Amino acid sequence: MSGRIRRCPEDRIYTLSLTCPACGKPTVVAHPARYSPEDKYGKYRRMALHD
Ligand SMILES: [Zn+2]
Repeated sequence: MSGRIRRCPEDRIYTLSLTCPACGKPTVVAHPARYSPEDKYGKYRRMALHD
């Protein structure tokens, strides 16, 4: 397992810190790609293209 890698939602920087080393904002736990909002939007985009 990869442990508790975190990510800054602003910069998309991966870190183990609770705050982003770049902008200082709170980081969130990095989820697997299938749960990312970006992937969900991509899915809708692909469905729209098929229609
Ligand atoms: Zn940041």
